[in-house]
Amino acid sequence: MLNLTGKNALVTGIANNRSIAWGIAQQLHKAGANLGITYLPDDKGRFEKKVKELVEPLEPSIFLPCNVQDDAQIEETFKAIASNWGKLDILIHCLAFASKDDLTGDFSKTSRAGFTQAMEISTYSLTQLAGAAKPLMTEGGSIVTLTYLGGVKVIPNYNVMGIAKAGLEMSVRYLASELGPNNIRVNAISAGPIRTLASSAVGGILDMIHHVEEVAPLRRTVTQLEVGNAAAFLCSDLASGITGQVLYVDAGYEIMGM
Ligand code: NAD
Repeated sequence: MLNLTGKNALVTGIANNRSIAWGIAQQLHKAGANLGITYLPDDKGRFEKKVKELVEPLEPSIFLPCNVQDDAQIEETFKAIASNWGKLDILIHCLAFASKDDLTGDFSKTSRAGFTQAMEISTYSLTQLAGAAKPLMTEGGSIVTLTYLGGVKVIPNYNVMGIAKAGLEMSVRYLASELGPNNIRVNAISAGPIRTLASSAVGGILDMIHHVEEVAPLRRTVTQLEVGNAAAFLCSDLASGITGQVLYVDAGYEIMGM
């Protein structure tokens, strides 16, 4: 049975009720996990207020700002986990960013700054958070990140984010190899296209979703809660033999050649 009772889970990447991380947080909570939530702070505190209200029913025991470009905020987050929980079992890395300008048109026009920013936030952050989680996962653990088919195949307008996701998927394998002896598993979920704040920045996202609805074996795309179910599975003992993998949760779209 899928049971996460007694597990401490840090969930990053909730911006609103459309976020994939919100679907994951709900399913981890349903399975009995104790939640810590981090959010991206902004000057006016709008994100904090919105995310706090949203996650209240899940009764997170840690709620902190964590911009992954800010080393001090990452340090504070893991300090809080050490002092409040003592150990960490689950890390959900569910965040990414690229400038809207770099998510449409010619890939060759990607700026150095845009490329670096996308890689830092969307790719490097997994390695940094996993490194911070490692000493706290004293009883083993599970790390799950979110990727997309655009990291393996060319998807119109996905551009620099495709490069970031390719790096992310390879990071999963290197991290899985390093952390495996500590019984820490690292996997990625490759989700089908879902309407969210982040995906709305990708040029033609609605056309992509309609295309998947026409072509995917299940003739639809997936929901945040379906991705959440897969994440809960990967974080549970039911997946104890799985690490370094990319699990497609995409209504089957990835298998189609035409
Ligand atoms: P979302 O906009 O709800 O989530 C993206 C999150 O990234 C937000 O919570 C945002 O605050 C956070 N973020 C951005 N910059 C950050 C920073 N510097 N520090 C900390 N957090 C930061 O969108 P989403 O679609 O739920 O995206 C979550 C993950 O799922 C991303 O990795 C995305 O690439 C991936 N994904 C999305 C889809 C899709 O179609 N929506 C498909 C496959 C994979």
